[in-house]
Amino acid sequence: MIMNKKIANAIKSLKQVSLTRKIAFNEPLKHHTSFKIGGECLALIEPVSEQELLTVIRLLTKLRVKFFVIGNGTNLLVKDVPLKIFIIKLSKNFANIEVEGNTLKALAGTSLVDACKTAADNSLSGLEWSFGIPGTIGGAVFMNAGAYGGQMSDCVKSVKFYNGKKVIELSNNKLKYAYRNSLFKHHKHYVIISATLALKEGVKEDIKALAEQNFKKRKDNHPLNYPSAGSVFKRHKKLIASKAIDELNLKGYKIGGAEVSQKHAGFIINKGNATSRDVLQLVKYIKKCVYKKHRVKLQLEVKILGD
Ligand SMILES: Cc1cc2nc3c(=O)[nH]c(=O)nc-3n(C[C@H](O)[C@H](O)[C@H](O)COP(=O)(O)OP(=O)(O)OC[C@H]3O[C@@H](n4cnc5c(N)ncnc54)[C@H](O)[C@@H]3O)c2cc1C
Repeated sequence: MIMNKKIANAIKSLKQVSLTRKIAFNEPLKHHTSFKIGGECLALIEPVSEQELLTVIRLLTKLRVKFFVIGNGTNLLVKDVPLKIFIIKLSKNFANIEVEGNTLKALAGTSLVDACKTAADNSLSGLEWSFGIPGTIGGAVFMNAGAYGGQMSDCVKSVKFYNGKKVIELSNNKLKYAYRNSLFKHHKHYVIISATLALKEGVKEDIKALAEQNFKKRKDNHPLNYPSAGSVFKRHKKLIASKAIDELNLKGYKIGGAEVSQKHAGFIINKGNATSRDVLQLVKYIKKCVYKKHRVKLQLEVKILGD
């Protein structure tokens, strides 16, 4: 009851805030995730500037309501139930890139692909591994995204973020980077505003060729024609999840609309009408099979959102 009053208050207050983009109330999150799964949130807010972002965060914090920041929603499994949370989406409407010498500064909502293209156009090397990853700079900084021998922590110089009280900037060595891990994963209320990347001068044609080569590998190996959230499980020191799943003959194994991709056993794809329950049951089944065979507990790389 108290919660409902709080939420009603928050909705009322949000309606009075003047923002560039209209707030979408009761917005289905399936429209904002690459899995195409996810129930309605209370409201989806898309600030277009740091100032708007801070206004919204401060308001929601003051009203003591839960909010969650998303980028392109490409590493999320959102439950398809009504979600009693407010979503702040930092994606293409919160994007900007500035290049100065060998550094590239990007707002959190900038797509990795755009950052990579801009780096290449400026003969800057260091982001080629990321070409084709569908997330944002914010999501990649948070997840320490990586591929083909590269990862975000190799090129992040510093990150500017809101820590619940004020905006601060921390350099790479303070960001607790490890494999698919970062400071941000342990401080859920931190909101990444921008990142400065330290890149190296290179030959434009070589940078573009390497980025294209990596993108081709993706197209050849990943099931890009179906909705998914990328690799479902983290790499484990004892085994490669996709290889273990493949060896258990689970490619094509299906629960409801969720299927272990025939193309890449590390991906679960949405064959059209998958529910979050289908995906979670499939995850449980895969984990059980892998544990039975290898005594290894696979850990999720995708983040689950919802009660
Ligand atoms: C086809 C496909 C291929 C993929 N390939 C790869 C790959 O090769 N390597 C890899 O590492 N990943 C891969 N991914 C997963 C995903 O693209 C990356 O993890 C990406 O970095 C997530 O970015 P996002 O903007 O989509 O984040 P989201 O999925 O929106 O969010 C992910 C997490 O980051 C947090 N977050 C996002 N933005 C902010 C912010 N501004 N401030 C605070 N927290 C924030 C969210 O709260 C959430 O916890 C793939 C996904 C797909 C669908």
